[in-house]
Amino acid sequence: MTYTDAHCHLGTRQYDTDRNEIVNRMLANEVNKVIMISCSKHDLQECLKLRKDHPGFKLAMSIHPQDLEDHDESRLEELWKDIMECKPEMIGEIGLDYYSHPHTKEYQLEFFRAQLEMAKELNLPVNIHSRKASKDTLDILRQYSVKGLIHSYSGSIEMAELFIKAGYYISFGASILFPNAKRPREVVAKIPLDKLLIETDSPYQSPVKGHVHEPMDVVNIYEEISRIRGINIDELKQCVEANFDSLFSHQ
Ligand SMILES: [Zn+2]
Repeated sequence: MTYTDAHCHLGTRQYDTDRNEIVNRMLANEVNKVIMISCSKHDLQECLKLRKDHPGFKLAMSIHPQDLEDHDESRLEELWKDIMECKPEMIGEIGLDYYSHPHTKEYQLEFFRAQLEMAKELNLPVNIHSRKASKDTLDILRQYSVKGLIHSYSGSIEMAELFIKAGYYISFGASILFPNAKRPREVVAKIPLDKLLIETDSPYQSPVKGHVHEPMDVVNIYEEISRIRGINIDELKQCVEANFDSLFSHQ
């Protein structure tokens, strides 16, 4: 049995000086299965090295929805070439961010669809980023027979149920640790256990100011969810690991 982190950026430049220590701390804390998001050449090289040594480290590749100021379509061809070469286990993160990048909405929609096509063609699951865009995200996901997870979920229980119906897991991050985060805590209490995933999104979304978020911190999120749900940590670990594994069970 292991902890899992369904969305982290282990290849990030922010970890260049201490990536080995971060990985060692993860493993020492029984975080043995992670999904590494790679949206740049730099991160990809680092993630490939890690994947070689750690069979539980899955690679997800994509063009990030916040990275479309340069929306040259040749980037999609280049991504496809890299995917053919690196054989990721997942496509992501992909999706829509109308909160931070409303001005690139049109290109986000185009690149989201194009990358869902890739996932469909390769029969790979997807790691979905959606901010202030639930309705469009859901409408588009319903058009593709692709499976995956909704990363860092912060929406309503009703919307979560619709994503689940469309075939998606709901993944919760450090936001549930904030005492004033009423809604995510209420939603995480109601998600069916067989649809629940847990993540850090590290190095982003640190729950503690000044602390560099890292995958081993996922343990704190597990502990809080086990308290909210009133189940013991081993039961939670077992469920979430089974959900994590099922994303990749066809591969
Ligand atoms: Zn992310």
